[in-house]
Amino acid sequence: MGKHNHSHQEHSGDSLMDAASASLIAAGEQWTNMRADVFEELARHEKPASAYDIADNLSAKRGKRVAPNSVYRILDLFVTNNLALRVESSNAYLANSHPGCTHDCIFLVCDDCGEATHVDSDDVSRTVRAIAEQRNFAARRPVIEIRGICASCN
Ligand SMILES: [Zn+2]
Ligand SMILES: [Zn+2]
Ligand SMILES: [Zn+2]
Repeated sequence: MGKHNHSHQEHSGDSLMDAASASLIAAGEQWTNMRADVFEELARHEKPASAYDIADNLSAKRGKRVAPNSVYRILDLFVTNNLALRVESSNAYLANSHPGCTHDCIFLVCDDCGEATHVDSDDVSRTVRAIAEQRNFAARRPVIEIRGICASCN
């Protein structure tokens, strides 16, 4: 988990696509057309998207049916390699705006509009990981999500 003074970079648009492909290639994986399409589609969504949402949109774009299962496998690869974040309570995914930098991302998930606001707090995740460590539990991925009502729905 990142130190306090690392050079944290948030990306969007083309720079996000470049950062994502660079991270995946650095991990020894290929940046195929299909993977690029899934990532682009994911990044286009402002709210967490499911494998089904992405498969539907990609099927329309590519003019042939894309199976949700193949999208799911790519999303799984993205999560493993820090390109995508899984919002557990929404059973959906967001493009990771910081693919070059690993954090235990925290989500504020709106019960009304479904928007998931992404925040990073190393202090919070350190505390959560310490709880696991005290019990000799090997924490792999803390899931920290707050359900509620966002500012625009309030
Ligand atoms: Zn960072
Ligand atoms: Zn984050
Ligand atoms: Zn809302």
